[in-house]
Amino acid sequence: MTSILVKGGIIVTMDSSQRILTDHSIIIQNGKFEVIEKTDEIRRDWKVDEVVDASGGIVMPGLICSHTHLYGMLLAGAKLDVHPPSDFTQILQRVWWPVDENLTLDDAYASALVGCLQFLKTGTTTFADTYSGPNSIEGVLDRIARAVNEVGIRGLLAFEATERHSKEEGERGIKENVRFALKMKQELRSRTLPLFSLHASFTVTDELIQSVRELASEYAVPITIHTSEGLGDLQHNIERYGKRTLERLRDVGLLASDVVLAHCVHVNDDELDIVAKYRAKVAHNPMSNMLNAVGTAPVPHMLRRGISVGLGNDGYIFDGFENMRAAYLVHRLISRDPNAIDAYSILEMATIRGAQLYGLADQLGSIELGKKADLIVIKPEMLPTPLNQDSVVGHLINSITGRDVRTTVVDGNVIMKDRMVLAVNEEKAQSEAQNAAAGLWQRLKTAKPQVEHVGPTR
Ligand SMILES: [Zn+2]
Repeated sequence: MTSILVKGGIIVTMDSSQRILTDHSIIIQNGKFEVIEKTDEIRRDWKVDEVVDASGGIVMPGLICSHTHLYGMLLAGAKLDVHPPSDFTQILQRVWWPVDENLTLDDAYASALVGCLQFLKTGTTTFADTYSGPNSIEGVLDRIARAVNEVGIRGLLAFEATERHSKEEGERGIKENVRFALKMKQELRSRTLPLFSLHASFTVTDELIQSVRELASEYAVPITIHTSEGLGDLQHNIERYGKRTLERLRDVGLLASDVVLAHCVHVNDDELDIVAKYRAKVAHNPMSNMLNAVGTAPVPHMLRRGISVGLGNDGYIFDGFENMRAAYLVHRLISRDPNAIDAYSILEMATIRGAQLYGLADQLGSIELGKKADLIVIKPEMLPTPLNQDSVVGHLINSITGRDVRTTVVDGNVIMKDRMVLAVNEEKAQSEAQNAAAGLWQRLKTAKPQVEHVGPTR
């Protein structure tokens, strides 16, 4: 494996001491951070294969997207001919569920390839994806993994199990997750990791939740589930079970430290206490929440309770810096409190907290000795004010965009250099994705909206 010297730049380590280093250099060897020392104290006899010059820029860990749907990429810009939805449940019924029905295995691969490229080109090196498609279940995680491996970043991959149509549909989804988890157990250095996913509490039965809980414990794989994203989830649980969403998930035995709850918008203080008690985690998706007009997750309240919150895009905007900025702004707006959330907490959500969500904080999420060497080098095209140790966090949240990311290292390999992706032909990937999207948009013209029914089919 190659060894790399990263020299110069301001290093925002995201370690537990919150160190921000200047005049330091990093040596990467065997895929890990081997040396982080003052540049003039580094031994001169280190033999390195490659030098990354970060001078004048910022070095930080690659961003972690805690919740995405790579296939969401195929809907970018689409003008769909549907009766305008008036709430989130109708957005699912009229937009997303018809999309899911029409996805093919080729669509999964094409969208994953271009999605991973967008992540790479805007600073994200690890993501957690859940794929949904009742007509493209078996083998789909291999197709997505192929795309992740070709681009060279990391992904936790799941099929989103649901019983929207039938009990059998839920079983097939779980089977695909188990198949992939067993396969990944054989591949120790893999950059793709297994994840179990349940769609949401309003499309799955207690039996399915319990079955996934048991399998996740048996295979030591984390679980994710959409939780109280729209009001429909809460209403369903109150009407059918007489409980709020987190109460039902607790009572059915799902909650534990390996569960990542995506969204948690419509949760009250008692539910947040439940999340904290069971040390479950939350993936916050501010831009998607705005797009779907569902409301805002009470993230400052979560942080005060010590709940780990990561940052996701829910398949919408792939530039992590845009998502960070949205998270920074929306909680100020909604609370009318300029101190609602600070810039460093947002950076943590997009890095080390994201790693904590999936039990990977000992390997990823910060620049520390012995951790896997995933980092980005940012060189802003233009900054109107000084970049230094004091201003770097403010610049990362307020000034930088994903396009300022110049060079990216994952697993000790340079995979993007001066914005050139080294392993994948970007034009070809883009053209394949455009063809896949055009085909999907065409099929959607004749697709029927899903029945106005919420809840699992028994
Ligand atoms: Zn989602």
